[in-house]
Amino acid sequence: MVVESYPIPARVSDQANGIGITAGLGKKGYQGRIIWDYVKQQLKIIGIKMTNSFKQIVDQAGREDRVYLMEHEVKAILEGQDISTTRSLVARSEDEAVNLFRSIRSPVALKILSPDVIHKSDTGGVKLNLRNEDQVREAYRQIINSFRDKTVTGISVQEMAKPGVEVIIGVTLDPTFGPVMMFGLGGVFVEILKDVSFRSIPLSEYDAEDMIEEIKGYALLKGYRGSAADVPALRDLLLKVSDLVMENPEIKEMDLNPVFIYPQGYKVVDARIILGEPRVKASRALPKQDLHDLFYPKSIAVIGASGTRGKLGWNVFTNLVCHNFEGKLYPINPKAEEIHGIKAYPRISDVPEPVDVAIILVSASVTPDVVKECCNCGIKYIVVESAGFAEMGEEGRRLEQEMKTIADSYGVRLLGPNCSGIINTHCSMVQSIGIVDALSKGSIGLVSQAGVCAAGMLWGLRQIMDFGIVATIGNKLDINETDMLSEVSQDKNINVICMYLESVKGGRRFVDVAKQVSMTKPVIVLKSGRTEAGKKAVTSHTASLAGNDQVFSGVFRQGGIIRASDYEHMFNLAKAVSKQPLPERDGVFIITYAGSLGVISADAVTDNEMRLSDLEPALKERLRGLLPEYVGGLNPVDYTFSMDGETVKKTIEIGVESADVGSFIVVLQAEILGSYVDSLKSIDYKGKPIMACVAGKEFAMEDVIKMEKAGIPVYSTPEQCADAISVMFRHAQRIRSSR
Ligand code: ADP
Ligand code: MG
Repeated sequence: MVVESYPIPARVSDQANGIGITAGLGKKGYQGRIIWDYVKQQLKIIGIKMTNSFKQIVDQAGREDRVYLMEHEVKAILEGQDISTTRSLVARSEDEAVNLFRSIRSPVALKILSPDVIHKSDTGGVKLNLRNEDQVREAYRQIINSFRDKTVTGISVQEMAKPGVEVIIGVTLDPTFGPVMMFGLGGVFVEILKDVSFRSIPLSEYDAEDMIEEIKGYALLKGYRGSAADVPALRDLLLKVSDLVMENPEIKEMDLNPVFIYPQGYKVVDARIILGEPRVKASRALPKQDLHDLFYPKSIAVIGASGTRGKLGWNVFTNLVCHNFEGKLYPINPKAEEIHGIKAYPRISDVPEPVDVAIILVSASVTPDVVKECCNCGIKYIVVESAGFAEMGEEGRRLEQEMKTIADSYGVRLLGPNCSGIINTHCSMVQSIGIVDALSKGSIGLVSQAGVCAAGMLWGLRQIMDFGIVATIGNKLDINETDMLSEVSQDKNINVICMYLESVKGGRRFVDVAKQVSMTKPVIVLKSGRTEAGKKAVTSHTASLAGNDQVFSGVFRQGGIIRASDYEHMFNLAKAVSKQPLPERDGVFIITYAGSLGVISADAVTDNEMRLSDLEPALKERLRGLLPEYVGGLNPVDYTFSMDGETVKKTIEIGVESADVGSFIVVLQAEILGSYVDSLKSIDYKGKPIMACVAGKEFAMEDVIKMEKAGIPVYSTPEQCADAISVMFRHAQRIRSSR
C-alpha cells in the first residue's frame, strides 16, 4: 500500500487490494483540494493509515543537498499525520498564485518558499490578509523582488487562519536526553518571559497534559469569561508530534510556530524541520547483571589497603573493619603480612576464595592492569576509588576506556572511577575514602556523584536523618546514576532516595526508571551545573531556549522527581518525606504560640498554593471550648505564649478529626521545645503529616534532635514548613493522577 502525498495532493495505489486513487492538482487547484480531502476521508473509512510522505520529502531534500524542510513540505508531512494546518499550496507564477487564491476562501497569505530562507517574515517574505486578485499579484511581485538573490522554490498560498491563542511547539535534540519537546505560548511569552515547558520524547498522555498545565500562561488557555482553548486537541497534537519524531529519527529540530488554538480545534500556521543524522535508538537493553551483590557483598578485597595511617588505603580498610562489615575482608598489599590483624595477600589472584567486590585504590596508570587481574579472578564488581582519570584530561580518558573495554568483555560491572564507594548500613559496609563515624540503619538512600560531598554531609546530618545507603558514582564509566536509582529503589530497607547529580548519563532510561520508582518511593534530586548549553548558534527557537537547566527541570518533572534547589532544600524535603506521610488534602491547620509567626505561616501556605483548612462547625465549637477568651482566630490558632504540650495535643486531635485538614504546622518556642516532644509523639495523627517551625532552632539543637528523633521534622522558618508540605501534597497528587 503506498500513499503518496508529496507534492500535495495524492496518489494512492494498492493494486493487490484493488484500490487505486489518483488525485492531481492540475490546473484547477480547488478541484485538487476537494479530491485530496476526499482521498483522506476514504482512506480513513477503509481503515488505511497514511504511510507518511516523510521519506519522499527527506529523499527530495537529500537530492538537493539540504537539511532544512520548508513550510509546504512540513505541512504535507503533518497533514499526513492528521494534524490540521493552514496548508501550503505552491505557486510558481503570478497567475498560478491567483488561481490558487480563487480556490481558497479569501483572505489568503502568501509566503516565500526558499531553502535559503528560514525566518520568512524577518525579510518581508510573508504577506497576510490578501483579499482580492490585485493584492495577491502585488504581494507575489513584492516577495519575488525581495528575494531576487535567493533560490526561490515557489510562493506558498494558504488560507488565513482565524485568530486564536498562539502557541509554539518545538523539538530539539538534547545532548543528554535525545529528542525533547518544548511547549509555550507564542510571542513575548516565549521570547521575553521564556515561559515554556520541556519533556523528553516520547510523551505519555499525562506528560502532554502536564506540560501544558506547567506553563504560567496556562491560565490564558483555560480562558476567562467562557472563551477557552481546546486543551484536549492541543494535548493530542503534542502526542502526534511525539509519534512523528519517534517514527522519523532523521528529525533533529522542528518548530511549529505559531499554532493557533481555538475553542474547538487548532491550526498549524507555520512549520519547519531541520534534518540530521538519524538518531540511533538508545539501547534499552537490561544492565549486564543486577547490582544487588554490589550493595550486599559476602566478601570484599581492598587492593591498595594500607597499614599506614594517613593513606587512603588505610582509611578505606579501617572504615570496613571498624564498622564491622558483615562479610569477609581481604587486604591486598604486597608489602604487608596483615592489616588490622587480617591476613593480607600480595595480589588479588592469591586470595584462595571467591570475592564479590574488589575496591581498587592504586594509581590511575596501573589501574587497568589491576582491573584485568580482578576480571580474571572472577570478581563480580569492581569499585575504582582512585582518581586521575577523565576528570584530568586525555590520558585519563584513555585509561578509562581501556578499563571499560576490559570490564565489558568479562561482563563485570565497574563503579567509579574517582568515587568514594558505597556505604550500606544494612550490612555494615563503609567503603568511604574519608573516615566515617557511627551510622544508623536508616531508610534514606543517597546517590551522589561526588564522594566528598556525600561524606561531608553525613557527619552532621546523621543526628537528625537516618541514611541507610550512600552510594557515590564518580565518573560513571559503567554504573551510572540510573543504574543506582534502579537498584537502590528496589532495596526494601530504603524508602526515600536523594540524588546529587552533575550530569545524567542514563538519558531517556533515567526518565523511565524515575517514573516507575517515584510512584512508590519519593526521589529528590539536586542537580548542579545550571549553565546554559544552548549558547551556540542555532537555527531554531526551541534549540536556543533549551538551556540545559530547563530541559532538566521538565524531564525531572516528567519522571515524577522532586527537584531541590540546594543542599539544605534537598535535606529539608528528604527528612519530611522520610518521617511523615504525604498529605491527602491541601488544607493546612496552623497552631502557633505567637501571632506574627502565625500570620507568616498563613502567608507561606497561600504562597505555596495550599490553603488554610476550615473546621466543621462542631469541631469549631470544641476548639472554642479549649481556647482562652482572648484568642480570636481558629486557623491559625494563636495561643499567644500560653501554649504547652497538652494544649497543642488537644488542638491537633481536633484537627485530626476534620475532613478539611490535610496537614499541620505547629510553631513552637525554641526555649521550651523539649517540653513538647512527648505530647506530640503520643498523638494519633491518622496519616496526616505534621511539621514544626522553631525560630532560632540552631540554638536549641539538643531538643531539635529529640524532636527529629521522635519523627517530627523541625524547620527554622514557616516558609520551609509550607514548602515541604506543598511539595509533598503535589507529589501525592501526581501519584494519584498518573496511576
Ligand atoms: P516566519 O516564522 O518564518 O517568520 P510565519 O509563517 O510564522 O513566518 O509568519 C509570520 C507570522 O505571520 C505568524 O507568526 C503569524 O502571526 C502570521 N501568519 C503567517 N501565516 C498565517 C496564516 N496562514 N494565517 C494567519 N496568520 C499567519
Ligand atoms: Mg513562524
